[in-house]
Amino acid sequence: LTAPHEEEKSRPSLQAEAAARGLQVDVQDAVVRFGELAVLRELSLSIPSGQFLAVVGRSGCGKSTLLRLLAGLEAASAGTVSFGAAGGSPGLRTDVRVMFQDARLLPWKSVLDNVRIGVPGGDRAQALDALELVGLADRAKEWPAVLSGGQRQRVSLARALAGDPRLLLLDEPLGALDALTRIEMQQLIERLWRERRFTAVLVTHDVGEAVALADRVVLVENGSIAQDVAVALARPREKDTGFAHYESTIL
Ligand code: ADP
Ligand code: MG
Repeated sequence: LTAPHEEEKSRPSLQAEAAARGLQVDVQDAVVRFGELAVLRELSLSIPSGQFLAVVGRSGCGKSTLLRLLAGLEAASAGTVSFGAAGGSPGLRTDVRVMFQDARLLPWKSVLDNVRIGVPGGDRAQALDALELVGLADRAKEWPAVLSGGQRQRVSLARALAGDPRLLLLDEPLGALDALTRIEMQQLIERLWRERRFTAVLVTHDVGEAVALADRVVLVENGSIAQDVAVALARPREKDTGFAHYESTIL
């Protein structure tokens, strides 16, 4: 366990590395409407490369709509969404990945073949590496149906990360899990974010989870960002949560 001050010293270099790896996102005055209902109303949000941003807000406030907008699954009727990257313009098909509350695995494909969907070209070795990352390489040949809910979410995470995305969008990915599994998954997501240095946007209605994982938390209210709070420096990372022994049993 490193002392807090040592951890602070190591932070700038991690951030510099992240800047070269993740995707920067800029939303300017975005409006998304469903018929009469304007869900996002001139929402603006800039996400620096490598940041872990959490989006919180009441059910129905437009969190998923915002995430879908970032994923290109929803169109803005006004405003813009743009992506910046140090290494030139991103290829959105491989650079942006989404993970949902339900794992959305194909039941007729093996665990490995589900992860191969996330790899450009379907490369087996790369998919196996991704399964290794989430601690499920030994379950590669099994059907999704025999896995637990938490394991299925780990396969879903492996599929999302298999193509080495630069922006990972997470829509309440842990919402259906029991409390202990949720903590294991939080630790796994944080570790992979630290290792892989992608930009992460986590939508959650759980403010505790937002603060536990993110550098920055924004609150969506009335269709725009009502609050914007930095949390990184207030909270030392990688501290012993007391659940480390559970992590060693899953990895
Ligand atoms: P959240 O994720 O914060 O719970 P959503 O972004 O899913 O909220 O939804 C915001 C609002 O937009 C809700 O009132 C929802 O009913 C509405 N909405 C979302 N998607 C659609 C859609 N495809 N068609 C019509 N209304 C929608
Ligand atoms: Mg939602």
